[in-house]
Amino acid sequence: MPRETLGLVEVALPVPLFQTFTYALEPSAPNAAVTGSRVVVPFRNRTEIGICLGPASPRSLPGKVRTITEVPDAGPVLSADMISLCRWMADYYIVPVGIAMRSVLPAMLTGAAQPQPGRKTHRIVRLGHDLPTLLEREKAFTRAPQQRALFELLESLGGNSTLEHLLQQLAFSPSVLKGLEKRGLIVIEAEEIERDPFASRTIPAATPHTPSDAQAAAIATIAGAGRGDVFLLNGVTGSGKTLVYIEVLKRLVRETGKAGIVLVPEIALTPQTVDRFRAVFGDDIAVLHSALSDGERYDAWLALSRGEKRIAVGARSAVFAPLANLGAIIVDEEHETSYKQGETPRYHAREVAIVRARLEGAIVVLGSATPSLESWANAESGKYTLLNLPERVGGGRLPKIEIVDLRHRESPTGPREGAAPPAYSYVIRDELDSALAATLARGEQSILLLNRRGYSSFVQCGDCGNVIVCPNCSITLTHHRAPERLLCHYCGHQEALNPVCGRCGGRTLRQRGLGTQQVERLISDRFPGATVARMDVDTTSGKWAHAGILDRVASGEVDILLGTQMIAKGLDFPNVTLVGVVDADTGINLPDFRASERCFQLLSQVAGRAGRGPKGGRVFIQTRVPNHHAVVCAVTHDYLRFVHEEASGRVSPPYPPNIRLANIVFSGMDAMATDDLAVAATAWLRELLETQRLDGVTVIGPAPCPIERIKTRWRWHVLLKCAQAGELTRVSRYFMEKFSVPPSLRVTLDRDPVALL
Ligand code: ADP
Ligand code: ZN
Repeated sequence: MPRETLGLVEVALPVPLFQTFTYALEPSAPNAAVTGSRVVVPFRNRTEIGICLGPASPRSLPGKVRTITEVPDAGPVLSADMISLCRWMADYYIVPVGIAMRSVLPAMLTGAAQPQPGRKTHRIVRLGHDLPTLLEREKAFTRAPQQRALFELLESLGGNSTLEHLLQQLAFSPSVLKGLEKRGLIVIEAEEIERDPFASRTIPAATPHTPSDAQAAAIATIAGAGRGDVFLLNGVTGSGKTLVYIEVLKRLVRETGKAGIVLVPEIALTPQTVDRFRAVFGDDIAVLHSALSDGERYDAWLALSRGEKRIAVGARSAVFAPLANLGAIIVDEEHETSYKQGETPRYHAREVAIVRARLEGAIVVLGSATPSLESWANAESGKYTLLNLPERVGGGRLPKIEIVDLRHRESPTGPREGAAPPAYSYVIRDELDSALAATLARGEQSILLLNRRGYSSFVQCGDCGNVIVCPNCSITLTHHRAPERLLCHYCGHQEALNPVCGRCGGRTLRQRGLGTQQVERLISDRFPGATVARMDVDTTSGKWAHAGILDRVASGEVDILLGTQMIAKGLDFPNVTLVGVVDADTGINLPDFRASERCFQLLSQVAGRAGRGPKGGRVFIQTRVPNHHAVVCAVTHDYLRFVHEEASGRVSPPYPPNIRLANIVFSGMDAMATDDLAVAATAWLRELLETQRLDGVTVIGPAPCPIERIKTRWRWHVLLKCAQAGELTRVSRYFMEKFSVPPSLRVTLDRDPVALL
């Protein structure tokens, strides 16, 4: 890198101001500040780490220029292409460029790293001995329901958990732990914190497959791609999309010496997929995952930027892996909403991937069995090249899906009253029950999906109808057992379950809505000989509990895997021959324009877990809306019909992909002030559009957000709709830069929101 001599440089700082700053560089500084270098600078009365953007333009010279304190590195940390990418993000997502830059660099380089004392240990709680039969269990725990709850929770966690998780997140009392420990049912021991779970995971040997005709055709088309091309690989579940990704990368990395990035929705949920890449590319891969310490993440970043590793595999932020000579970015399950970052900058990794690939001359492969409507529209318009894998590989067939109509034969006692548990037969109808019993009898495995964690979703007074809600958020509190409490899924607020209604003093509290904990109990009672594992946020302490549970399923130890949406993703277990959806309707009626799409994707994905081996598979979907197009199209495996019906439902009023959307959210502790700000902002926007004759942009609202209050903040929102991305950018930027907001209130803008809740 030639040493540029710069007197005055332009610096991007991670501060919430839409501008860059000018600083002077001492000629005697040991390192030169080149474009892309980190610089340590005084800012107001503190120090900030910024990025040098090059020589300052003489026009923007302010009166007094402060001097750069330090240039810590010998060379740049951002390439010219990465700087361009950050500028695009800043522009498109309406954030200061310094904030965009901070989000693409590892915390060790931005000053955000947590101090890392050497290897830490933590205390692990393990099961002491087994209580395999229901009878032994009843005997052991007659007078200790809390101990039983904890014991069974540990079982569902794969036999161990950290002490911290049990005491803090799950709020067990230390006396319950002591009781179990004294009886030898659990042991508590110190263990070194495993920093990199992948480091100790044995890599299974790669199973070589000869690509099917459809796979071969897709691979050949991608091989002929030009720079910046985007492919949408629409392959049904089990069609072998991973093999296509691997062949594409093999060619690029081994034959043309290029580098690649593989994005997966969540590493912890897809250890099998990651294993397949590791089996082929071994040490060429850096797996970027949330269990890495800041130091390890930085090591991986260095190895990638030096070219020691050629492939980065990771979730959303791996799209920023510092690879030179990038050949391809793969986005697996491109429809997943986890690709969208929920905080500033609210980028979508799929969109960033496409822009980065265009800048660097790479290609992009977006893979999904159920592509997002946005990607599908781009394939239809010819912006992306569509590739189809219409059949399962290896002789597998898509499973037969049967509907169980929950409206028929409501249980004889009707919906249950009081605190008594509902009849099993009300929750799991005969058809699904027989299939479960038969699957168990054959020694095969089942997956049950219920997308609602906790025991019951809310508690209501039978006398006055009062529903217990969170004091901080406008949503109901969920009843959890093990330990017994009411919990807010938004802010974590907990309270004891009071047997008396706080409003009328009534004593008939009713449990409403099923949660996974309740289904787990019902299933365990019905099939006492079966090993049931539950996988949801409550059973997964630290992200690595997922892999533990999934490994137990893979080894055949688990007969029935029950869980929330996290069990619907890329699992590939040939012995799973039954999938049951306990209640397909959770979420289908959410006030969000993507609710149906989300439901269709979830049903298709979870159904896709069945019948991946030669034994075939069956799927049962229990629902009260069997004629809803999301359900009908999932049952018939008809993606095309779904997109066409869904897209035509988004014409009037228009929603993406028919238009572009930005969601502006106003929030504050004071309800009235928040409401006033939203009203004032809307008037401001309407006037702007009128005076500037920007009639392509429509303002909808203001209205309270569907979840009006979260973590004690009241929330209002306004939607901007526009056919033209560029026009939407201009209006959004002007608003965010110019509209003034009192310090007690907050405004955020979410471009291309994935949810409007
Ligand atoms: P998808 O991601 O499309 O759901 P996967 O990539 O997980 O599908 O592949 C499903 C299974 O098929 C995997 O176990 C994989 O090893 C296997 N497989 C992939 N390609 C072939 C092939 N050409 N012949 C036989 N089996 C294959
Ligand atoms: Zn809350």
